[in-house]
Amino acid sequence: MGAFFGVVSKRDCIKDVFFGTDYHSHLATACAGLAVCRPDGQLQRKIHNLDKGPFRTQFESSFNVMEGNAAIGTISDHDPQPLIIKSRHGVYAICYVGIINNLEALVDEHLHEKGGHFGVSTGGEVNAVELIATLIESKEDFIEGIRYAQSRIEGTANILILMEDERIIAVRDYMGRLPILLGKNEDGYCLAFESFSYQKLGYEDFRELGPAEIVEMTKDGVKTIVPPREEMRICSFLWTYYGYPTSTYEGVNVEVMRTRNGALLAQDDCKKGNNKGVDYVCGVPDSGTPHAIGYSNGCGIPFARPYIKYTPSWSRSFMPEKQVDRNEIAKMKQVPVTQLIKDKSLLFVDDSIVRGTQLRETVNFLYNNGAKAVHMRSACPPIMFGCKYLNFSRATSDRELLTRRIIVELEGEEGLNYIDEYADSNTERGKKMRQAICDKFGFTSLEYQSLENMMNSIGIDKCKLCTYCWNGKE
Ligand code: SF4
Repeated sequence: MGAFFGVVSKRDCIKDVFFGTDYHSHLATACAGLAVCRPDGQLQRKIHNLDKGPFRTQFESSFNVMEGNAAIGTISDHDPQPLIIKSRHGVYAICYVGIINNLEALVDEHLHEKGGHFGVSTGGEVNAVELIATLIESKEDFIEGIRYAQSRIEGTANILILMEDERIIAVRDYMGRLPILLGKNEDGYCLAFESFSYQKLGYEDFRELGPAEIVEMTKDGVKTIVPPREEMRICSFLWTYYGYPTSTYEGVNVEVMRTRNGALLAQDDCKKGNNKGVDYVCGVPDSGTPHAIGYSNGCGIPFARPYIKYTPSWSRSFMPEKQVDRNEIAKMKQVPVTQLIKDKSLLFVDDSIVRGTQLRETVNFLYNNGAKAVHMRSACPPIMFGCKYLNFSRATSDRELLTRRIIVELEGEEGLNYIDEYADSNTERGKKMRQAICDKFGFTSLEYQSLENMMNSIGIDKCKLCTYCWNGKE
Protein backbone atom coordinates (compact mmCIF):
# COMPACT_ATOMS: atom_id res chain seq x y z
CA MET A 1 0.00 0.00 0.00
CA GLY A 2 1.61 3.32 1.07
CA ALA A 3 0.46 6.83 1.91
CA PHE A 4 1.49 10.47 1.76
CA PHE A 5 1.07 13.61 3.82
CA GLY A 6 1.66 17.25 2.81
CA VAL A 7 1.48 20.73 4.30
CA VAL A 8 1.68 24.31 2.97
CA SER A 9 1.79 26.83 5.78
CA LYS A 10 2.72 30.39 6.79
CA ARG A 11 5.16 28.85 9.29
CA ASP A 12 7.77 26.10 9.26
CA CYS A 13 5.88 22.85 8.74
CA ILE A 14 8.51 20.11 9.02
CA LYS A 15 7.34 19.01 12.44
CA ASP A 16 3.77 18.58 11.15
CA VAL A 17 4.93 16.62 8.09
CA PHE A 18 7.20 14.44 10.25
CA PHE A 19 4.42 13.45 12.67
CA GLY A 20 1.74 13.42 9.97
CA THR A 21 3.72 10.97 7.83
CA ASP A 22 4.64 8.89 10.88
CA TYR A 23 0.91 8.46 11.61
CA HIS A 24 0.70 6.52 8.31
CA SER A 25 3.28 3.92 9.38
CA HIS A 26 0.68 1.12 9.47
CA LEU A 27 0.24 1.45 5.70
CA ALA A 28 3.73 0.52 4.44
CA THR A 29 6.98 -0.93 5.71
CA ALA A 30 9.65 -0.71 2.96
CA CYS A 31 10.83 2.88 2.63
CA ALA A 32 9.88 6.49 3.31
CA GLY A 33 10.86 9.99 2.30
CA LEU A 34 10.47 13.68 3.07
CA ALA A 35 10.85 16.64 0.70
CA VAL A 36 10.74 20.31 1.64
CA CYS A 37 10.93 23.72 -0.08
CA ARG A 38 13.75 25.31 1.87
CA PRO A 39 13.74 29.04 2.69
CA ASP A 40 16.41 29.52 -0.03
CA GLY A 41 13.94 28.19 -2.63
CA GLN A 42 15.74 24.86 -3.18
CA LEU A 43 14.04 21.50 -2.79
CA GLN A 44 15.66 19.20 -0.23
CA ARG A 45 14.88 15.49 0.08
CA LYS A 46 15.67 12.58 2.40
CA ILE A 47 14.83 8.90 1.77
CA HIS A 48 15.41 5.99 4.16
CA ASN A 49 14.71 2.26 4.10
CA LEU A 50 12.49 1.11 6.93
CA ASP A 51 14.01 -2.36 7.28
CA LYS A 52 16.24 -1.14 10.13
CA GLY A 53 13.50 0.67 12.02
CA PRO A 54 10.23 2.58 11.72
CA PHE A 55 9.76 6.01 10.12
CA ARG A 56 10.11 7.89 13.40
CA THR A 57 13.56 6.58 14.26
CA GLN A 58 14.83 6.76 10.67
CA PHE A 59 13.82 10.39 10.20
CA GLU A 60 14.43 11.82 13.68
CA SER A 61 17.80 13.21 12.66
CA SER A 62 16.69 14.31 9.16
CA PHE A 63 13.81 16.37 10.36
CA ASN A 64 16.08 18.36 12.65
CA VAL A 65 18.07 19.56 9.63
CA MET A 66 15.11 20.31 7.35
CA GLU A 67 13.15 23.53 7.32
CA GLY A 68 10.47 25.13 5.15
CA ASN A 69 6.86 26.21 4.78
CA ALA A 70 5.85 23.57 2.25
CA ALA A 71 6.74 19.90 2.57
CA ILE A 72 5.57 16.38 1.73
CA GLY A 73 6.22 13.00 3.32
CA THR A 74 5.60 9.52 1.99
CA ILE A 75 5.76 5.96 3.17
CA SER A 76 5.88 3.14 0.63
CA ASP A 77 6.01 -0.64 0.20
CA HIS A 78 7.96 -0.47 -3.01
CA ASP A 79 9.47 2.51 -4.82
CA PRO A 80 11.87 4.87 -3.01
CA GLN A 81 10.28 8.33 -3.17
CA PRO A 82 9.75 11.29 -3.44
CA LEU A 83 11.85 11.85 -6.57
CA ILE A 84 13.06 15.32 -7.42
CA ILE A 85 12.55 16.13 -11.10
CA LYS A 86 14.05 19.01 -13.07
CA SER A 87 12.10 19.66 -16.26
CA ARG A 88 10.72 22.34 -18.55
CA HIS A 89 7.92 22.72 -16.01
CA GLY A 90 10.38 23.58 -13.24
CA VAL A 91 11.80 21.60 -10.35
CA TYR A 92 9.42 19.52 -8.27
CA ALA A 93 9.27 16.61 -5.83
CA ILE A 94 6.80 13.87 -6.71
CA CYS A 95 5.46 10.75 -5.00
CA TYR A 96 2.51 8.42 -5.44
CA VAL A 97 0.39 5.77 -3.71
CA GLY A 98 -1.12 2.80 -5.55
CA ILE A 99 -0.08 0.36 -8.24
CA ILE A 100 0.58 0.68 -11.97
CA ASN A 101 -0.32 -2.65 -13.56
CA ASN A 102 0.83 -1.64 -17.05
CA LEU A 103 4.15 -0.15 -15.92
CA GLU A 104 6.32 -2.27 -18.20
CA ALA A 105 4.12 -1.67 -21.22
CA LEU A 106 4.21 2.11 -20.64
CA VAL A 107 7.99 2.06 -20.17
CA ASP A 108 8.48 0.03 -23.38
CA GLU A 109 6.10 2.28 -25.30
CA HIS A 110 7.98 5.39 -24.19
CA LEU A 111 11.43 3.95 -24.97
CA HIS A 112 10.23 2.69 -28.35
CA GLU A 113 8.57 5.96 -29.41
CA LYS A 114 10.70 8.61 -27.76
CA GLY A 115 14.00 6.95 -26.82
CA GLY A 116 15.58 8.39 -23.67
CA HIS A 117 16.15 6.26 -20.60
CA PHE A 118 14.90 5.22 -17.17
CA GLY A 119 16.94 4.44 -14.07
CA VAL A 120 16.44 0.87 -12.84
CA SER A 121 16.86 -0.90 -9.50
CA THR A 122 19.15 -3.90 -9.00
CA GLY A 123 16.28 -6.17 -10.08
CA GLY A 124 15.88 -4.14 -13.30
CA GLU A 125 12.64 -2.44 -12.25
CA VAL A 126 11.76 1.10 -13.23
CA ASN A 127 10.62 3.30 -10.33
CA ALA A 128 6.89 3.92 -10.89
CA VAL A 129 7.28 7.54 -9.78
CA GLU A 130 9.83 8.14 -12.54
CA LEU A 131 7.38 6.72 -15.06
CA ILE A 132 4.59 9.01 -13.79
CA ALA A 133 6.91 12.02 -14.11
CA THR A 134 7.84 10.93 -17.64
CA LEU A 135 4.17 10.67 -18.63
CA ILE A 136 3.50 14.12 -17.18
CA GLU A 137 6.51 15.57 -18.97
CA SER A 138 5.37 14.20 -22.31
CA LYS A 139 2.82 17.03 -22.57
CA GLU A 140 3.56 20.74 -23.02
CA ASP A 141 1.12 21.76 -20.33
CA PHE A 142 1.78 20.43 -16.82
CA ILE A 143 -1.86 19.79 -15.87
CA GLU A 144 -2.57 18.25 -19.25
CA GLY A 145 0.44 16.00 -18.52
CA ILE A 146 -1.06 14.93 -15.18
CA ARG A 147 -4.38 14.15 -16.84
CA TYR A 148 -2.56 12.21 -19.54
CA ALA A 149 -0.76 10.17 -16.84
CA GLN A 150 -4.12 9.50 -15.12
CA SER A 151 -5.64 8.33 -18.39
CA ARG A 152 -2.77 5.97 -19.25
CA ILE A 153 -2.26 4.31 -15.86
CA GLU A 154 -4.06 0.99 -15.38
CA GLY A 155 -4.42 0.42 -11.65
CA THR A 156 -4.56 3.19 -9.08
CA ALA A 157 -2.41 6.27 -8.55
CA ASN A 158 -2.85 9.07 -6.05
CA ILE A 159 -0.13 11.59 -6.91
CA LEU A 160 1.42 14.36 -4.83
CA ILE A 161 3.68 17.05 -6.29
CA LEU A 162 5.60 19.70 -4.34
CA MET A 163 6.62 22.63 -6.57
CA GLU A 164 9.65 24.77 -5.75
CA ASP A 165 7.41 27.85 -5.35
CA GLU A 166 5.69 26.29 -2.29
CA ARG A 167 2.61 24.96 -4.08
CA ILE A 168 1.38 21.39 -3.66
CA ILE A 169 -0.59 19.67 -6.41
CA ALA A 170 -2.65 16.70 -5.28
CA VAL A 171 -4.25 14.22 -7.67
CA ARG A 172 -6.75 11.60 -6.57
CA ASP A 173 -6.91 8.35 -8.54
CA TYR A 174 -9.40 8.10 -11.38
CA MET A 175 -11.93 5.88 -9.55
CA GLY A 176 -11.29 7.29 -6.08
CA ARG A 177 -10.28 3.88 -4.68
CA LEU A 178 -8.00 5.51 -2.13
CA PRO A 179 -8.81 8.66 -0.15
CA ILE A 180 -7.18 12.07 -0.01
CA LEU A 181 -8.47 14.25 2.82
CA LEU A 182 -7.72 17.93 3.31
CA GLY A 183 -7.25 19.65 6.67
CA LYS A 184 -6.99 23.33 7.59
CA ASN A 185 -5.64 25.46 10.43
CA GLU A 186 -5.04 29.19 10.91
CA ASP A 187 -1.68 28.99 9.12
CA GLY A 188 -2.45 26.85 6.11
CA TYR A 189 -3.60 23.53 4.70
CA CYS A 190 -2.59 19.88 4.77
CA LEU A 191 -3.59 16.64 3.10
CA ALA A 192 -3.45 13.02 4.19
CA PHE A 193 -4.68 9.46 3.71
CA GLU A 194 -5.70 9.17 7.37
CA SER A 195 -7.83 12.01 8.75
CA PHE A 196 -6.79 11.48 12.37
CA SER A 197 -3.16 12.27 11.42
CA TYR A 198 -3.89 15.95 10.88
CA GLN A 199 -6.59 16.21 13.55
CA LYS A 200 -3.93 15.22 16.11
CA LEU A 201 -1.78 18.06 14.78
CA GLY A 202 -4.47 20.70 15.32
CA TYR A 203 -5.94 20.82 11.78
CA GLU A 204 -9.69 20.59 11.25
CA ASP A 205 -11.38 18.65 8.47
CA PHE A 206 -11.64 20.82 5.39
CA ARG A 207 -12.87 18.45 2.69
CA GLU A 208 -12.22 15.23 0.80
CA LEU A 209 -11.05 15.15 -2.82
CA GLY A 210 -13.41 13.47 -5.29
CA PRO A 211 -12.36 10.81 -7.84
CA ALA A 212 -9.81 12.12 -10.38
CA GLU A 213 -9.93 15.58 -8.82
CA ILE A 214 -6.78 17.71 -9.10
CA VAL A 215 -6.21 20.56 -6.66
CA GLU A 216 -3.53 23.13 -6.04
CA MET A 217 -2.83 23.88 -2.40
CA THR A 218 -1.09 27.06 -1.19
CA LYS A 219 -0.93 28.60 2.27
CA ASP A 220 -3.89 30.81 1.27
CA GLY A 221 -6.29 28.18 -0.03
CA VAL A 222 -7.11 25.13 -2.09
CA LYS A 223 -8.08 25.62 -5.73
CA THR A 224 -9.73 22.91 -7.83
CA ILE A 225 -7.91 22.65 -11.15
CA VAL A 226 -9.79 19.64 -12.47
CA PRO A 227 -13.21 18.92 -10.91
CA PRO A 228 -14.07 15.46 -9.54
CA ARG A 229 -15.86 12.77 -11.51
CA GLU A 230 -19.20 11.49 -10.23
CA GLU A 231 -18.36 7.81 -10.56
CA MET A 232 -16.44 6.38 -7.62
CA ARG A 233 -15.31 2.94 -6.39
CA ILE A 234 -13.71 3.55 -3.01
CA CYS A 235 -12.08 0.43 -1.54
CA SER A 236 -14.40 -1.26 1.00
CA PHE A 237 -11.38 -2.81 2.69
CA LEU A 238 -10.47 0.65 4.02
CA TRP A 239 -13.22 0.14 6.58
CA THR A 240 -13.13 -3.60 7.13
CA TYR A 241 -9.37 -4.04 7.42
CA TYR A 242 -6.60 -1.58 6.74
CA GLY A 243 -7.87 1.93 7.51
CA TYR A 244 -6.85 3.17 10.94
CA PRO A 245 -9.78 2.88 13.43
CA THR A 246 -9.74 6.59 14.28
CA SER A 247 -9.99 7.66 10.62
CA THR A 248 -13.07 8.69 8.72
CA TYR A 249 -13.58 8.32 4.96
CA GLU A 250 -16.65 9.60 3.12
CA GLY A 251 -17.96 10.70 6.52
CA VAL A 252 -17.88 7.14 7.92
CA ASN A 253 -15.55 6.37 10.83
CA VAL A 254 -13.70 3.05 10.59
CA GLU A 255 -14.24 1.91 14.20
CA VAL A 256 -17.95 2.80 14.07
CA MET A 257 -18.37 0.85 10.81
CA ARG A 258 -16.61 -2.19 12.30
CA THR A 259 -18.77 -2.32 15.42
CA ARG A 260 -21.93 -1.88 13.31
CA ASN A 261 -20.70 -4.64 10.99
CA GLY A 262 -20.09 -7.02 13.92
CA ALA A 263 -23.58 -6.36 15.29
CA LEU A 264 -25.19 -7.27 11.93
CA LEU A 265 -23.11 -10.45 11.75
CA ALA A 266 -24.34 -11.38 15.23
CA GLN A 267 -27.96 -10.72 14.27
CA ASP A 268 -27.70 -13.23 11.40
CA ASP A 269 -26.02 -15.83 13.62
CA CYS A 270 -28.68 -15.39 16.33
CA LYS A 271 -31.47 -15.82 13.78
CA LYS A 272 -29.96 -19.09 12.58
CA GLY A 273 -28.99 -20.23 16.10
CA ASN A 274 -25.35 -20.45 15.01
CA ASN A 275 -23.81 -19.16 18.24
CA LYS A 276 -25.57 -21.30 20.85
CA GLY A 277 -23.30 -22.39 23.72
CA VAL A 278 -20.57 -19.84 22.95
CA ASP A 279 -18.86 -18.59 26.14
CA TYR A 280 -16.90 -15.68 24.74
CA VAL A 281 -16.80 -13.55 21.60
CA CYS A 282 -13.23 -12.59 20.70
CA GLY A 283 -11.50 -10.58 17.99
CA VAL A 284 -8.51 -11.77 15.98
CA PRO A 285 -6.31 -8.81 16.95
CA ASP A 286 -6.06 -6.07 15.99
CA SER A 287 -8.52 -5.23 13.23
CA GLY A 288 -10.90 -8.10 14.13
CA THR A 289 -11.43 -6.66 17.61
CA PRO A 290 -13.94 -3.87 16.86
CA HIS A 291 -15.98 -6.26 14.67
CA ALA A 292 -16.00 -8.66 17.67
CA ILE A 293 -17.05 -5.91 20.11
CA GLY A 294 -19.95 -5.12 17.78
CA TYR A 295 -20.81 -8.82 17.58
CA SER A 296 -20.75 -9.13 21.38
CA ASN A 297 -22.91 -6.02 21.83
CA GLY A 298 -25.29 -7.32 19.18
CA CYS A 299 -25.93 -10.72 20.79
CA GLY A 300 -25.15 -10.23 24.49
CA ILE A 301 -22.42 -12.91 24.65
CA PRO A 302 -19.50 -11.43 26.63
CA PHE A 303 -16.44 -10.14 24.82
CA ALA A 304 -13.06 -11.47 26.02
CA ARG A 305 -9.42 -11.52 24.98
CA PRO A 306 -8.22 -15.13 25.40
CA TYR A 307 -4.81 -14.19 24.05
CA ILE A 308 -3.03 -10.89 23.88
CA LYS A 309 -0.37 -9.84 21.42
CA TYR A 310 3.01 -8.93 22.88
CA THR A 311 3.83 -5.86 20.82
CA PRO A 312 6.65 -3.85 22.45
CA SER A 313 9.37 -5.55 20.36
CA TRP A 314 7.44 -6.53 17.19
CA SER A 315 4.82 -3.91 16.54
CA ARG A 316 3.84 -5.08 13.04
CA SER A 317 3.32 -8.67 11.99
CA PHE A 318 4.01 -8.47 8.25
CA MET A 319 7.33 -6.66 8.36
CA PRO A 320 9.60 -9.65 7.48
CA GLU A 321 9.67 -10.57 3.80
CA LYS A 322 9.23 -14.33 4.15
CA GLN A 323 5.86 -15.78 5.15
CA VAL A 324 7.59 -18.38 7.31
CA ASP A 325 9.25 -15.61 9.36
CA ARG A 326 5.99 -13.70 9.64
CA ASN A 327 4.26 -16.82 10.96
CA GLU A 328 7.01 -17.42 13.48
CA ILE A 329 6.75 -13.86 14.79
CA ALA A 330 2.95 -14.03 14.91
CA LYS A 331 3.28 -17.20 17.00
CA MET A 332 5.75 -15.65 19.43
CA LYS A 333 3.51 -12.64 19.90
CA GLN A 334 0.42 -14.65 20.95
CA VAL A 335 0.35 -14.91 24.73
CA PRO A 336 -2.61 -16.92 26.16
CA VAL A 337 -4.86 -16.10 29.11
CA THR A 338 -5.47 -19.74 29.96
CA GLN A 339 -8.42 -19.08 32.29
CA LEU A 340 -10.32 -17.62 29.32
CA ILE A 341 -9.49 -20.53 27.00
CA LYS A 342 -9.57 -23.79 28.98
CA ASP A 343 -12.86 -25.68 28.45
CA LYS A 344 -14.42 -22.63 26.79
CA SER A 345 -16.34 -22.38 23.56
CA LEU A 346 -14.86 -19.37 21.76
CA LEU A 347 -16.20 -17.45 18.78
CA PHE A 348 -13.54 -15.44 16.96
CA VAL A 349 -14.21 -12.64 14.49
CA ASP A 350 -11.46 -11.83 11.97
CA ASP A 351 -11.53 -8.84 9.61
CA SER A 352 -11.25 -11.20 6.62
CA ILE A 353 -9.88 -14.61 5.60
CA VAL A 354 -7.52 -14.33 2.64
CA ARG A 355 -5.08 -17.25 2.68
CA GLY A 356 -5.82 -18.38 6.23
CA THR A 357 -2.17 -19.20 6.95
CA GLN A 358 -2.00 -17.59 10.37
CA LEU A 359 -5.49 -18.74 11.39
CA ARG A 360 -4.43 -22.39 11.31
CA GLU A 361 -1.64 -21.62 13.80
CA THR A 362 -4.01 -19.62 15.99
CA VAL A 363 -6.60 -22.40 16.14
CA ASN A 364 -3.94 -25.00 17.04
CA PHE A 365 -2.63 -22.67 19.72
CA LEU A 366 -6.14 -22.29 21.20
CA TYR A 367 -6.77 -26.05 21.24
CA ASN A 368 -3.32 -26.64 22.75
CA ASN A 369 -4.37 -24.29 25.55
CA GLY A 370 -7.53 -26.28 26.24
CA ALA A 371 -10.27 -24.61 24.13
CA LYS A 372 -13.41 -26.73 23.84
CA ALA A 373 -14.59 -25.17 20.56
CA VAL A 374 -13.29 -22.50 18.15
CA HIS A 375 -15.94 -20.92 15.92
CA MET A 376 -14.67 -18.56 13.23
CA ARG A 377 -16.44 -15.58 11.68
CA SER A 378 -15.19 -13.37 8.87
CA ALA A 379 -16.27 -9.72 9.02
CA CYS A 380 -16.49 -9.65 5.22
CA PRO A 381 -17.79 -12.13 2.61
CA PRO A 382 -15.56 -14.90 1.12
CA ILE A 383 -12.76 -13.30 -0.90
CA MET A 384 -13.02 -14.78 -4.40
CA PHE A 385 -10.89 -12.38 -6.48
CA GLY A 386 -7.39 -10.97 -5.85
CA CYS A 387 -7.23 -7.18 -5.81
CA LYS A 388 -6.07 -5.78 -9.15
CA TYR A 389 -6.47 -2.14 -8.24
CA LEU A 390 -4.10 -1.62 -5.31
CA ASN A 391 -0.80 -2.96 -4.12
CA PHE A 392 -2.74 -4.71 -1.41
CA SER A 393 -0.26 -6.92 0.45
CA ARG A 394 -2.69 -9.57 1.60
CA ALA A 395 -4.60 -10.25 -1.61
CA THR A 396 -2.17 -11.25 -4.33
CA SER A 397 -2.94 -13.83 -7.02
CA ASP A 398 -6.35 -15.47 -7.31
CA ARG A 399 -4.77 -18.93 -6.95
CA GLU A 400 -3.48 -18.14 -3.45
CA LEU A 401 -6.95 -17.31 -2.12
CA LEU A 402 -8.19 -19.90 0.36
CA THR A 403 -11.67 -20.04 -1.19
CA ARG A 404 -10.34 -20.84 -4.67
CA ARG A 405 -7.92 -23.45 -3.36
CA ILE A 406 -10.77 -25.19 -1.54
CA ILE A 407 -13.10 -24.99 -4.56
CA VAL A 408 -10.43 -26.59 -6.78
CA GLU A 409 -9.87 -29.30 -4.14
CA LEU A 410 -13.62 -29.98 -4.04
CA GLU A 411 -14.38 -30.21 -7.75
CA GLY A 412 -11.33 -29.17 -9.79
CA GLU A 413 -11.00 -26.07 -11.99
CA GLU A 414 -14.58 -26.63 -13.17
CA GLY A 415 -15.76 -25.47 -9.74
CA LEU A 416 -14.48 -21.96 -10.44
CA ASN A 417 -17.47 -21.53 -12.78
CA TYR A 418 -19.71 -21.53 -9.69
CA ILE A 419 -18.06 -18.78 -7.66
CA ASP A 420 -21.42 -17.09 -6.91
CA GLU A 421 -22.86 -20.30 -5.51
CA TYR A 422 -19.80 -20.93 -3.37
CA ALA A 423 -19.99 -17.40 -1.97
CA ASP A 424 -23.60 -17.98 -0.85
CA SER A 425 -23.99 -19.86 2.43
CA ASN A 426 -27.53 -20.97 1.47
CA THR A 427 -26.43 -23.11 -1.49
CA GLU A 428 -25.11 -26.69 -1.36
CA ARG A 429 -21.79 -25.55 -2.81
CA GLY A 430 -21.58 -22.69 -0.28
CA LYS A 431 -22.17 -25.12 2.59
CA LYS A 432 -19.60 -27.59 1.25
CA MET A 433 -16.94 -24.90 0.94
CA ARG A 434 -17.50 -23.71 4.52
CA GLN A 435 -17.42 -27.28 5.84
CA ALA A 436 -14.21 -28.06 3.90
CA ILE A 437 -12.52 -24.98 5.41
CA CYS A 438 -13.70 -26.01 8.90
CA ASP A 439 -12.24 -29.49 8.36
CA LYS A 440 -8.95 -28.11 7.12
CA PHE A 441 -8.47 -25.58 9.92
CA GLY A 442 -10.23 -27.27 12.82
CA PHE A 443 -12.96 -24.61 13.14
CA THR A 444 -16.09 -25.76 14.96
CA SER A 445 -18.11 -23.58 12.57
CA LEU A 446 -17.45 -20.90 9.96
CA GLU A 447 -19.66 -18.07 8.74
CA TYR A 448 -18.98 -15.00 6.62
CA GLN A 449 -20.59 -11.57 6.73
CA SER A 450 -22.93 -11.04 3.78
CA LEU A 451 -22.02 -8.45 1.14
CA GLU A 452 -25.32 -6.69 1.83
CA ASN A 453 -24.60 -6.35 5.57
CA MET A 454 -21.03 -5.22 4.97
CA MET A 455 -22.14 -2.50 2.55
CA ASN A 456 -24.95 -1.44 4.90
CA SER A 457 -22.40 -1.14 7.71
CA ILE A 458 -20.37 1.29 5.60
CA GLY A 459 -23.61 3.04 4.74
CA ILE A 460 -22.62 5.14 1.72
CA ASP A 461 -24.23 4.79 -1.70
CA LYS A 462 -23.49 1.14 -2.64
CA CYS A 463 -22.55 1.92 -6.23
CA LYS A 464 -19.68 4.07 -4.91
CA LEU A 465 -17.99 1.09 -3.21
CA CYS A 466 -15.44 -1.25 -4.77
CA THR A 467 -16.51 -4.83 -3.99
CA TYR A 468 -14.40 -6.58 -6.66
CA CYS A 469 -12.65 -8.84 -4.08
CA TRP A 470 -15.96 -10.47 -3.25
CA ASN A 471 -18.11 -10.42 -6.38
CA GLY A 472 -15.66 -9.67 -9.21
CA LYS A 473 -17.73 -6.62 -10.24
CA GLU A 474 -15.58 -3.85 -11.72
S1 SF4 B 1 -10.49 -5.21 -5.15
FE1 SF4 B 1 -10.78 -5.30 -2.93
S2 SF4 B 1 -8.87 -4.54 -1.99
FE2 SF4 B 1 -8.89 -3.97 -4.18
S3 SF4 B 1 -9.77 -1.89 -4.24
FE3 SF4 B 1 -11.47 -3.29 -4.54
S4 SF4 B 1 -12.30 -3.72 -2.49
FE4 SF4 B 1 -10.25 -2.80 -2.24
